[in-house]
Amino acid sequence: MSAAIRATTPDLRSELIDWRERLEASANKSSDTFQLNGLLREVNAAIESLSREGYGVCQVCHDLIGQATMTIDPLAKTCLSCFTPEQLQELEQDLDRAWLIQGELLPKQNLKFNGWEVSYHYEPAGPVSGDYCDLVSLDNGELYFLIGDVSGKGVAASLLMSRLHAIFRSLIGAGLGVSELVERANQLFAESTMRPYYATLVCGKASKSGEMEICNAGHVAPLLLHDGSVTPIAATGLPIGMFCHERYSSTRVKLGKGDRLLLYTDGLSEARNRNDCEYGDERLSMFLNGCPQLPAISLVKELLEDLSAFSLARRRSDDLTVMAIEMVGH
Ligand SMILES: [Zn+2]
Repeated sequence: MSAAIRATTPDLRSELIDWRERLEASANKSSDTFQLNGLLREVNAAIESLSREGYGVCQVCHDLIGQATMTIDPLAKTCLSCFTPEQLQELEQDLDRAWLIQGELLPKQNLKFNGWEVSYHYEPAGPVSGDYCDLVSLDNGELYFLIGDVSGKGVAASLLMSRLHAIFRSLIGAGLGVSELVERANQLFAESTMRPYYATLVCGKASKSGEMEICNAGHVAPLLLHDGSVTPIAATGLPIGMFCHERYSSTRVKLGKGDRLLLYTDGLSEARNRNDCEYGDERLSMFLNGCPQLPAISLVKELLEDLSAFSLARRRSDDLTVMAIEMVGH
């Protein structure tokens, strides 16, 4: 996720205090305060208990538990280094199962549909990914493609990724235009997601004729590759989940045989190597100029090889997704 709009982890205590204020305001306005007072007592007890038990402090070593663990479990009482081997093993098994379930949400690899071929690579930085990637082909011959990046990382982001997956899967097929589809998805996502989480995404629809309609909600620009030239499809709206009633517009492009659309998350563009240099747009352009006519499947493969040659074996710090869609014709 880009530094400009990086999310902060919600602080449980501040959320509770905020909730108490809203409850108190409602209690002042309402004539029947019996239930509200009960709820207020519970919220007060929770705030007191957080203060008494040293919220965010490990009960074994008394060090701070750390943001990563608190993101997974806001009520964690032990830091990772104080876990017993059994607890660690249990956690690892849990995460392995979560990754298997996440894998089932991914679309078919090397999909061929109605004159299009799509290849993608999906790789988490940790045990699970907060990136979103989907392909949906409809009986009417249209192919929807989606790529996105949920703010934050780890388990919380992966849960929101599966929420996005469910929202779009339930809306696609309702005959909405791409921008309307993103507007509806934004509303559902914003209403059901605790702030400050949000997601950048690209939602597109490809038809048999080579036409594409693309809506970019705050995501890194997909690149249209045509005859050695590279055209970015810039964002025309905010990431989804920030405001309930955001409007979105879309861009229409036409692809001829051999043209490709390259989509990726910032795990590619913001990847850093051992010298702390960023992969960046410049290196990506250099790569694309160096191999202008690769088909989708080789484009993804060679791009990943270029990234790993650049990274000098530095461990990835962000989830990575790359997708290439090629018009191969009929
Ligand atoms: Zn500890």
